[in-house]
Amino acid sequence: MTDKVQEIEEIIGKYRTAGKILSQVKEEAKDKIKIGARILDVANFVEQRSIELGGQPAFPCNLSRNDEAAHATPSAGDESVFGKDMIKMDLGVHVDGYIADAALTIDLSGNPDIVKASEDALYAAVDIIKSGIDTKEIGAIIEDTITGYGLKPISNLTGHGLAQYYAHAPPSIPNRHIDHGVILSEGDIIAIEPFATDGAGKVSDGSWAEIYHVIGNRPVRLPAARKLLKQMEQYKTLPFAKRWLEPEKLDFALIQLEKAGIVTSYPVLKEVEGGLVSQAEHTVIVTDDGCEILTK
Ligand code: MN
Ligand code: MN
Repeated sequence: MTDKVQEIEEIIGKYRTAGKILSQVKEEAKDKIKIGARILDVANFVEQRSIELGGQPAFPCNLSRNDEAAHATPSAGDESVFGKDMIKMDLGVHVDGYIADAALTIDLSGNPDIVKASEDALYAAVDIIKSGIDTKEIGAIIEDTITGYGLKPISNLTGHGLAQYYAHAPPSIPNRHIDHGVILSEGDIIAIEPFATDGAGKVSDGSWAEIYHVIGNRPVRLPAARKLLKQMEQYKTLPFAKRWLEPEKLDFALIQLEKAGIVTSYPVLKEVEGGLVSQAEHTVIVTDDGCEILTK
């Protein structure tokens, strides 16, 4: 093997390991999502179990309910519990920065068709992915599958590529018909993530955020802000939860870093008409004649 081939094999090995860890955590965690269970307990379990199994959380465990499509995670000391909700559990595990990203919907609300629509759309997409496919064909099959249920895809959320320490790398993978896509090649690592809703099919920023990431690096003068930035360095460009940070002077320091353009938040994304939202996601490696699901 040449050095280059060996390097690629090593990288793919890390993606596969991240995917295996994620799959195990996902299986163990989904049984914990029940009416009356504390949301924070599930998020903590997912993140701690990922570490126990030899990975790192690539982002905070997202537990978004009902019309929340994504980016909801509990705050420190959050006492909220699951009710008769439609819950999206979106989790990420990385090994040396190589990320596996997957999500599933647990429905405690009595709307199984909405869940089935995004799952079917995901597997319909997986079935057609291979080297040489245009991402617009993926978007088309996702939209057609979901509209077949009388529902809508969330048109302004997409799947994405993955790269070392980048949870959202190009290309974007559409969840709807588009005019111009890009061609996928063997070895591309992508996350496919259709969302289905009985609402309008669009999300906008909600009023709260618990997830942040570092977007710039410039000197800060305030000691509290400097201390906080130091804590964030370990996450590099990956998203982290506010509850992962030390509570001392946290709100004050975080505002300073946001104002300075060093840190930004991911607000909770909500369906604009308040529709119920389901999500299904896998990370795959594109191969010559298909794809390999890393997060089965
Ligand atoms: Mn995800
Ligand atoms: Mn994703």
